Amino acid sequence: MNALFARYALLPEGWRREVLLEWDIHGDLTRVAAGAQAPLKVARADYVLPGMVNLHSHAFQRALGGLTERAGDGPDSFWTWRDLMYRFAARITPGQIEAIAAQLFAECLRHGYTSLCEFHYLQRDVDGRSYARPAETAERVAAAGQAAGIGLTLLPVLYSHAGFGQQALKPEQGRFRTNVDDVLGIVDALGTLRGGQLEVGAAPHSLRAATIDQIRALQDGLPQERPLHIHIAEQQAEVQQCLDAVGRRPVEYLMGEIALDPRWCLVHATHLNDGEVTALAGSGAVAGLCPTTEANLGDGLFPLEPFIAAGGAFGIGSDSHVSQSPVEELRWLEYGQRLQHQRRNVAVTREQRNVGDYLWQAALQGGARAAGRRVGALEAGKRADLVVLDGTHPNLDGVRDDEVLGRLVFCGNDNLVRDVLCGGHWVVQGGRHVAQDAIEQRYRQAVRELREG
Ligand code: ZN
Repeated sequence: MNALFARYALLPEGWRREVLLEWDIHGDLTRVAAGAQAPLKVARADYVLPGMVNLHSHAFQRALGGLTERAGDGPDSFWTWRDLMYRFAARITPGQIEAIAAQLFAECLRHGYTSLCEFHYLQRDVDGRSYARPAETAERVAAAGQAAGIGLTLLPVLYSHAGFGQQALKPEQGRFRTNVDDVLGIVDALGTLRGGQLEVGAAPHSLRAATIDQIRALQDGLPQERPLHIHIAEQQAEVQQCLDAVGRRPVEYLMGEIALDPRWCLVHATHLNDGEVTALAGSGAVAGLCPTTEANLGDGLFPLEPFIAAGGAFGIGSDSHVSQSPVEELRWLEYGQRLQHQRRNVAVTREQRNVGDYLWQAALQGGARAAGRRVGALEAGKRADLVVLDGTHPNLDGVRDDEVLGRLVFCGNDNLVRDVLCGGHWVVQGGRHVAQDAIEQRYRQAVRELREG
């Protein structure tokens, strides 16, 4: 029987006791009943959460993590980091992309992510030519997703220019080059992979790399209801370049030209003025926040408090993968605000006073919208994606249900994720991924080749 009996489970309406969860062979939840009797021979768990959505990833950057933390001669910035990332991206092969992505996905699962949106811009070969199969590298990411057993939203990237004003791409950006037809062709080629565990959307890289006309054409050419993601306002310099080029700030400009709706996710909506906060929150588009990467790159802090007050939707992503843990993203999302405002307990609403509960539920809802998949809640009809916490860990010993997420998000560094079910399959058991050894072996090999190459 595909079922689990939870002493406590986090449902859309909050924590519930004695919850029976059942799913079918397609990996969909068929029944979630609180206050149920425990059937015989059904596995039991203490604390069960919906698996988290990781709404922003560049999987290959996982192999770069920790290697760019040495100061150069001048001030180091996002832009000097990007130069190092480009050098790395210039050499990587499709096989290495697959090996690195599988490792990343297994790590994400072990920490409680069950869905991931891959913002995929490495489309061409090392000489900047199209592969014989133009979707080659995206298909490798999909294969890695299948090997690890994570749910994916693949977002082939539109990347045509090096900067505002349709600047020509630099040689080191040759592997990223796509026009609207290229992207729609890749979306089409990936169509056969769509299913319960995989959706396909698209992503104009940024207002630097794609024009408004291109973005409009991509939106019009993409099948309706598919997600659209864009990097929007990560760096102050980017905001200034946009002002210089078109006289408007990035979010203001995009929203003035394109009717944003809930299919849109604006990644790194870091630098917003008050008007942009209100407009973005009211659009239903998701703000994609990547606190550990944004901290690592020195981007700045998102105006979370007014965005929550305005009813905005947001989710979390691990982006460059200096962390693979939703706990760390949510912890730093809140801590950034506390440090900035010199106050405690910022991410709450009148109805939800527990910061951990608010953040987990809000990031699930925003993440699910950004993923464009039936995920983010333990309810019938959604994917059977759930996380079982280690109820024997001292941090969870004797805690009440409304204390679980406070303990998880704000206390300690042990990984409390014990088992993970994704799409109806147990992919993590006892803290280990079911294919961890094989995946790690391929990853080590790929990184060795890259660093020696
Ligand atoms: Zn990104």
